[in-house]
Amino acid sequence: MKFKKVFIDPEIKTQGFLSPFKKEAEISPSPKISDYRQGKRYLFIGPKRGEIFHICASLDPRYICCSTHVISHISNCPFECTYCFLQNYLTDTTLTVIAETEKIIEEIREKTGRMPWRLFRIGTWELGDSLATSPLNRASIGLVEAFKELPNCVLKLRTKGKAVEPLLDVDHGGKTVISWTVNPPQVIKSEEIGTATLEERLKAMEKVSRAGYPVGLHFDPMILFRGWERAYEGLIKEIFSAISPKNVIWISIGALRFNPEMKKKIEINYPFSRITAQELVLGDDNKFRYPRPIRVEMFRHLLAALREAGASECFTYLCMERWNVWKEVFGRTPKSIGHLDYLIAKSVHERFPKTAKIRPQKRPYLELSYQKFS
Ligand code: SF4
Repeated sequence: MKFKKVFIDPEIKTQGFLSPFKKEAEISPSPKISDYRQGKRYLFIGPKRGEIFHICASLDPRYICCSTHVISHISNCPFECTYCFLQNYLTDTTLTVIAETEKIIEEIREKTGRMPWRLFRIGTWELGDSLATSPLNRASIGLVEAFKELPNCVLKLRTKGKAVEPLLDVDHGGKTVISWTVNPPQVIKSEEIGTATLEERLKAMEKVSRAGYPVGLHFDPMILFRGWERAYEGLIKEIFSAISPKNVIWISIGALRFNPEMKKKIEINYPFSRITAQELVLGDDNKFRYPRPIRVEMFRHLLAALREAGASECFTYLCMERWNVWKEVFGRTPKSIGHLDYLIAKSVHERFPKTAKIRPQKRPYLELSYQKFS
């Protein structure tokens, strides 16, 4: 990906991953671009200002959330998914990455150190793709190295890209999970513009698996279209002919959702997309989704295909769904957000002991209040 221009903030003292960009960069504060698509073409490498580590902003006690934590050190993304919520969210759309890894780690160490018994799963994809392009994957290297030394933390890098080469020789100690959002080729082509093809994602998955990284899979958002059943079955077959379920640490499943203000934006930005034309219902969280019976059918179908492919042992959960949907899909449900948090930690500890060395205890997870760090 070639940016129109790269800016490096004059306040940045660290060298880190900046060297390859210095020659072409202008030393300047952020240009603060407001046009969503234009902002994707300009890169700003900035300093850390304020706190950037917190619980996922989508956490909502009315749903069973996975209570992941995030660091918002990336903002905007060079890809253009038609369903991306960033088109309705960012005011400064300049693609931004924070360079000061040491300061990020300092904040994480201080906050996660308060609960040494807890497994913190920490993603870098809240406002962008973790590995979409070279500056982002280089920024990730420092995090991967530092997470090796954080006993109760797991780094989650999540992408729709293929740019994994710089990570392959990094000493990760099993403490970083590299995850892909996956969809059948027809969805990638029509709704995930500029991302890696399925074939490219699978090759990248194979490479990181061989380099010993646990892999995460996110079937989210699942999209409804004519022939979706066979398409998702085929997708699962392809994934598990590229990598073994043994290397897959967790799988999340979710269906298309977006808030009402996004509908117009999607139709203006991506007039060719049909995703807003399906029947959608508005939930309590002010998001449109497919009607519940359709979502349940989609999730059950996917789950059956995962079982058929031998992936039953991979911890599989739903994203942003309620107890009743869990029950209809799995026949059982976690009692609470804390219970799901515990079940994930338990599965990681049992299947990937290098990733989570501490055996989780159920009670403290059940007692957690799942508030944002203040
Ligand atoms: S990869 Fe993620 S952040 Fe990037 S455009 Fe797609 S949905 Fe948005």
